[in-house]
Amino acid sequence: MNIHEHQAKALLKEYGAPVAAGVAIFSADEAEAAAKSLPGPLYVVKSQIHAGGRGKGKFKELGPDAKGGVRLAKSVEDVVKNAKEMLGNTLVTKQTGEAGKQVNRLYIEDGADIARELYCSLLVDRATSKVSFVVSTEGGMDIEAVAHDTPEKIITVGIDPVAGVTAADIAKINSALKLDGTAAVDGEHLFPILYKAFTEKDMSLLEVNPLIVMENGRLRVLDAKVSFDNNASFRHEELKPLRDLSEEDAKEIEASKYDLAYVALDGNIGCMVNGAGLAMSTMDIIKLYGAEPANFLDVGGGASKEKVTAAFKIITADPAVKGILVNIFGGIMRCDVIAEGVIAAVKEVGLKVPLVVRLEGTNVREGKAILDNSGLDVISADDLDDAAQKIVAAVAKAA
Ligand code: ADP
Ligand code: MG
Repeated sequence: MNIHEHQAKALLKEYGAPVAAGVAIFSADEAEAAAKSLPGPLYVVKSQIHAGGRGKGKFKELGPDAKGGVRLAKSVEDVVKNAKEMLGNTLVTKQTGEAGKQVNRLYIEDGADIARELYCSLLVDRATSKVSFVVSTEGGMDIEAVAHDTPEKIITVGIDPVAGVTAADIAKINSALKLDGTAAVDGEHLFPILYKAFTEKDMSLLEVNPLIVMENGRLRVLDAKVSFDNNASFRHEELKPLRDLSEEDAKEIEASKYDLAYVALDGNIGCMVNGAGLAMSTMDIIKLYGAEPANFLDVGGGASKEKVTAAFKIITADPAVKGILVNIFGGIMRCDVIAEGVIAAVKEVGLKVPLVVRLEGTNVREGKAILDNSGLDVISADDLDDAAQKIVAAVAKAA
């Protein structure tokens, strides 16, 4: 689950991180009061969407010469003017894709005097099995370019899970970021705070870009992006209200209601698979035969008929889907349950695209018989290779 910048900052503030004063607003009417509650004279009006690159982003409706999604304002009137211009419009950034994202809320924040913009993130480094700080002196808006052109400027410091953030770790991070004096003392406080927030809240990413050194030498978290690990959501009731459904893919929201591991993708072959590994291989083999998967979907081990039906409906509801590949290895999952789920779903929503089904494992004969006797136009396949070739060919033929 992702959250907005203003929510991430509020969370980090609870842990004691230095963030600016700010107010989130949902309509332009609130802009004046929000700005007046801040010290001024410099304000920043920040689009709140679940994507980065807002500063360099462009509003679709406003043309190429209009300012981006993060704007400095020098008076209360200027804040109001910008808020009116930005709210409700569609911001396109490097991370949103061409469609962009509608800006439904803004964060009006106190402006900072920036001396240096740094990069600081925490993530789970799977290679070392550690939560790691990834830092760079080259913070700001183009960290992807830094990673690409000058990777030596990005430094990783892995944290021992037993020891936590040690004095030696802090010294390494401070030195990598060239922090000294007051800023280094601020770093001693900040880096353990970020680590504590990351681990206690089961984050999968905490990105502060930029972390700034202000003209007065102090550190401040100027931007914050947080993703939480959904596998740990059961122990974080307190985070549930932070979810913003308007930022999520409608198909993924529907899938989450049924506890389905579903990720929407750009291709045209819908996949229903059990097991994450098999789902990945299925996507790979579709690509191998020249097509693209429309989704990742793992229906899980002991999925019920209702769950399978829901999954199939989500796939067929996607207008981009031009063919469906059901690939089930029945271990715990039973092939007959899958077959019944598919049929129940087709009865409800119809089947307008080719469907290839590959069943193997527990109750495979019963499953195949159910499909054969259903009168459905199912193309059956024997193995993964056969299945992938058949669905790619069927989609090509139908096009
Ligand atoms: P994004 O990463 O989505 O472009 P940021 O929050 O990082 O958005 O803002 C982009 C840039 O705007 C920052 O790199 C910084 O230069 C400037 N900026 C953001 N917030 C403030 C602020 N409160 N005061 C002054 N400048 C800011
Ligand atoms: Mg940023």
